[in-house]
Amino acid sequence: MSDAIQQAVPWEYAPAPESTDIVKLDDSYGLFIGGEFVEPKSGDRFVTINPATEEPLAEIAEAGPEDVGVAVDAARDASDHRWRDLPGSERAKYLYRIARQLQERAREFAVLESMNGGKPIKESRDIDIPLAAAHFFYYAGWADKLEYAFPGRTPRPIGVAGQIIPWNFPMLMAAWKLAPALATGNTAVLKPAETTPLTALLLAHVIQEADLPAGVVNILTGAGDTGAALVGAPVDKIAFTGSTDVGKIIRRSIAGSGKRLTLELGGKAANIVFEDAPLDQAVEGVVNGIFFNQGHVCCAGSRLLVQEPVFDALIEKLKARLQTLRVGDPLDKNTDVGAINSRAQLQKIEELVASGVEEGAEIYQPECVLPERGFWFRPTLFTGVSQSHRIAREEIFGPVLSILTFRTPEEAVQKANNTPFGLSAGVWTEKGSRILWMAERLRAGVVWANTFNRFDPSSPFGGYKESGFGREGGLHGLEPYLELEPNGT
Ligand code: NDP
Repeated sequence: MSDAIQQAVPWEYAPAPESTDIVKLDDSYGLFIGGEFVEPKSGDRFVTINPATEEPLAEIAEAGPEDVGVAVDAARDASDHRWRDLPGSERAKYLYRIARQLQERAREFAVLESMNGGKPIKESRDIDIPLAAAHFFYYAGWADKLEYAFPGRTPRPIGVAGQIIPWNFPMLMAAWKLAPALATGNTAVLKPAETTPLTALLLAHVIQEADLPAGVVNILTGAGDTGAALVGAPVDKIAFTGSTDVGKIIRRSIAGSGKRLTLELGGKAANIVFEDAPLDQAVEGVVNGIFFNQGHVCCAGSRLLVQEPVFDALIEKLKARLQTLRVGDPLDKNTDVGAINSRAQLQKIEELVASGVEEGAEIYQPECVLPERGFWFRPTLFTGVSQSHRIAREEIFGPVLSILTFRTPEEAVQKANNTPFGLSAGVWTEKGSRILWMAERLRAGVVWANTFNRFDPSSPFGGYKESGFGREGGLHGLEPYLELEPNGT
């Protein structure tokens, strides 16, 4: 170990666990349909666990096709009779109420999110839950201003939205989907991911407390089959976030049905560091770009492109920084990298990392001790990566960074765009003109400059190519939920 890396080895931190007392779990949960928790007609249930301990947390109802039908009927009834014709200012009141409840119960949501998903409490506490509340606040503000958002056109709600979300940001994704749908006068049937249903079910309680009219939001827990049944149900729109493979299945299955579709899919973002970048800040940005949320981030900066003159210096600093990352108990406030979300995801990461070694890349992992139970993976760097390696092409969705080099800005652009994905990119340089030059050429929905993984409800997010289409967030995020007819029609 070099001196710099040796010096960076951190001192011991005393444990600082967040108490779980604030979370009151039921033994078993029903489906949230028509404003009430109901037993699944399917009769099926599954157990949701804590990925950091593998301990069971609760039994969850698994919605079958019949349940999906009942939920869509409830959403249709709510749309026709209780929601779409409500004045925007009235709809906004409910959204504000939900937002305030999320703030009031933020700690409970954050602890539950970390228990069920494995993410560090400092992330669920400081990012996921505050941002989820911010989305409800933001879209509440638009609810009575839609005609100003789209001048010259008459905005009308589409009807019933089927919304399918993944396990990496369960509560935040629920907010991204529900807030714009409700603000625009649509009703929703939301399906959370199989491994992370609990915060969506807590949100159902908040929705009850907010007195949202029955059926405006319905939450169906289940697995992929439940999602597929929702896609096939008589909804007017599908909003999906998840893997590109499932996105393709959904697109094929609804082709010709007239249903609207937005897809937010995978990514393989380039984080590009030029020789004039402030290296210490870039290292923090690179670490945040790939190790935030264990790398379970669709816009993660999973490919690092470093300009050759600073390659050695940057790698040395990066390795030293990795030694200081604390991997372990997600509920410990000092933890930087928590648990991998599921055994299946861990196996996928292990398989792709093994392919990197096999294909000749050089692996580096810090010497951290991993807990014995649960699903864990060390923060990992690969150097000597070529563009043809699987670890440079496929979404690993784990704490694994593939590092390549470049000499000229043109080469950086060419390598960054050499991917089927196009969700995000990062540029590190002190030259403003270079940032603009790069941003024009990078085929990515979001380009961050001298920062990474910044999210804001007022800023649209979405991809090109196999990263999907449609935008969520900002004014753009209203459009997929509206019929926009020219005035006078
Ligand atoms: P999926 O795309 O399978 O899951 C996303 C959501 O879709 C979940 O709610 C899932 O349900 C549901 N779903 C699964 N199959 C169908 C279907 N046929 N029709 C409708 N809905 C369906 O992602 P995975 O959880 O399987 O993760 C696999 C890989 O996908 C990851 O390793 C990662 O690379 C990538 N991924 C990317 C995400 C992103 O934001 N870009 C998010 C999540 C994963 P259920 O979870 O219950 O199976």
